[in-house]
Amino acid sequence: MDAYAREMYDVVGIGFGPSNLSLAIALEEHEANVSAGPISAAFFERQPSFGWHRNMLLPSATMQISFLKDLATFRNPVSRYSFIAYLHTSGRLVQFVNNQNFFPTRQEFHQYLEWAESNFSDRVSYGSEVTAIRLAPESVPGESGHLQVEVRQGITGVRRTVDARNVVISTGLVPRMPSGVERDDRVWHSSEFLQKYRQIETHDLKRVAVVGAGQSAAEITRFLHDALPHARVYAVIPSYGYSVADDTPFANQVFDPAAVDDYYFGTEQTREAFWRYHKNTNYSVVDDEIIRDLHRRSYDEDVRNDRRLYFLNLTRVRDVQRAGTELRVRLHSLLDTESEPLDVDALVFATGYDTMQPTGLLGDLDRYCLRDEAGRYRAERDYRLVTTPELPCGIYLQGGTEHTHGLTSSLLSNVAVRSGEIADSIIHRRAGQGLEPVVSLDAAARTG
Ligand SMILES: Cc1cc2nc3c(=O)[nH]c(=O)nc-3n(C[C@H](O)[C@H](O)[C@H](O)COP(=O)(O)OP(=O)(O)OC[C@H]3O[C@@H](n4cnc5c(N)ncnc54)[C@H](O)[C@@H]3O)c2cc1C
Repeated sequence: MDAYAREMYDVVGIGFGPSNLSLAIALEEHEANVSAGPISAAFFERQPSFGWHRNMLLPSATMQISFLKDLATFRNPVSRYSFIAYLHTSGRLVQFVNNQNFFPTRQEFHQYLEWAESNFSDRVSYGSEVTAIRLAPESVPGESGHLQVEVRQGITGVRRTVDARNVVISTGLVPRMPSGVERDDRVWHSSEFLQKYRQIETHDLKRVAVVGAGQSAAEITRFLHDALPHARVYAVIPSYGYSVADDTPFANQVFDPAAVDDYYFGTEQTREAFWRYHKNTNYSVVDDEIIRDLHRRSYDEDVRNDRRLYFLNLTRVRDVQRAGTELRVRLHSLLDTESEPLDVDALVFATGYDTMQPTGLLGDLDRYCLRDEAGRYRAERDYRLVTTPELPCGIYLQGGTEHTHGLTSSLLSNVAVRSGEIADSIIHRRAGQGLEPVVSLDAAARTG
């Protein structure tokens, strides 16, 4: 037990990306309506400072949602943490409107997130990785008790323990690599792209390949084609080419807050239909503008008879061999059974992400969490895991509930409403238990 062992919070948030930042806002804005006193909250983030997919902040990359789907507006249109409030503070509101575009760059949205975060940095411990959650030893299962969250400080490795009545796990998507392929200084996943790219001498990159058919793959292909005018750029695509992301108005309704109810309370057939009909709104699809841009570049090279952008369609990576700085990729065409070698200087896997999986963090607590017939966690409509009555605390998920709450579970589209629903649930349950508020918000401040 350490010096922090007696800290007790109503909520401990694990991970401080946009989801838990939005929760911090919802809790603060809810306080005005809470007669029982403020909710105490502390957040732990393993990165050294706030960052939202920093390695994919490519210069021209834009948001895939409207700026109005920010951290707060859909829950509270007059929030002081809206994207519009940020624009106003930055002196860009008028020019943003003149720009007539619903979709800001990701760089601008990142600035907005940092601006919002600066109001909550006293509640966040950075460089702090949560390694385990467990039931406090003094708890009496089924009657009373709380959770203990174990945190490891980044540089020092020092461990501390924090007590919580509820935890909200929001640790984000997990980068996915093809099995058997190891990452290194020349083989990258898109989630580490800019960091790895900046560490390498760009004149060493004469042949680069990008694997994948989704938005990140197309963005990185375009970036490398721009940034390396001397290099050959290969796009390795398992399909016949990129497919367009459907963001037309009717299809977009699948991201509406109300769609969560339709999914959650729907039948198994309803849920299946959601995925069957609307997967092309988000998964392995690319914005129309970038598809057309890449095709135009390829066509121009044809006209000039000066080709350096290659689209290897219906192609998969069979394996990757590394000898020193030499990198050989064996490509397998889906048209025949042949394999072709391709020698490259860097290989980027934009092969997507797996859904958040909290099992590792839950450890022994897992035995209190109920699962469905397919072995997946059951979750209440308020994103609280369904647990046996012995567990007297709340475990909430922001992400990892695609099977119960649908497409938006890990996306920003519904982040404001989702966080608001979690905040409501925690506050109402506390009121139901007649619990008094605990330590003040300021006391939560610890930097890692
Ligand atoms: C390149 C890219 C662009 C995207 N663009 C969009 C978009 O335009 N619109 C949209 O709706 N969605 C988009 N998404 C989907 C994405 O899931 C959301 O944008 C968003 O990141 C979800 O926020 P989050 O807080 O749930 O997860 P994250 O942003 O992933 O944040 C999770 C945080 O938890 C931290 N963490 C993880 N484990 C621990 C631990 N054990 N202890 C402490 N901290 C931990 C991580 O360091 C991270 O900061 C995009 C995804 C990517 C990869």
